Amino acid sequence: MITVEIPGRAAVELAGVVFDMNGTLTIDGVLGEPERQLLRRLGERLAVYVLTADTFGTAAGVFAGLPLELHKLTTACGHLEKRAFLAGLGADRHAAVGNGFNDHLLLRAAAVGVCVLGREGAHPLTLGNADLVVPSTAAAIELFLDPRRLVAGLRS
Ligand SMILES: [Mg+2]
Repeated sequence: MITVEIPGRAAVELAGVVFDMNGTLTIDGVLGEPERQLLRRLGERLAVYVLTADTFGTAAGVFAGLPLELHKLTTACGHLEKRAFLAGLGADRHAAVGNGFNDHLLLRAAAVGVCVLGREGAHPLTLGNADLVVPSTAAAIELFLDPRRLVAGLRS
């Protein structure tokens, strides 16, 4: 749990972060080593969840050994399923990080929504629903490792 005191807004108490997988944490299904190390550190501080349709069945191997919970989507309506997953955790106590169309409701509902503009790009609806937009996976994870960065971007 971390508390983020944001001038001009109510303090946000975060219990965890929900991540989209493809295009947000991984590119072409590959998780980089620096990003793996950052996720390991984040998992020591907050609950970390990764949502994926896991089309190629590789997600369990990609995230093996990391302190996070992998959740596989089971319907064709990923955007609704992701929002429902977040609601089950408590949307007001969780941040969300994503990039694609099926993350736009997730980011809108989350206490803090972060859009990753990585090599896969980002959908404009998701971009518009984000509280912050960052250029990379690493930058997204680092926001929660050093919440002063969140404060800098969100303060009034
Ligand atoms: Mg994605």
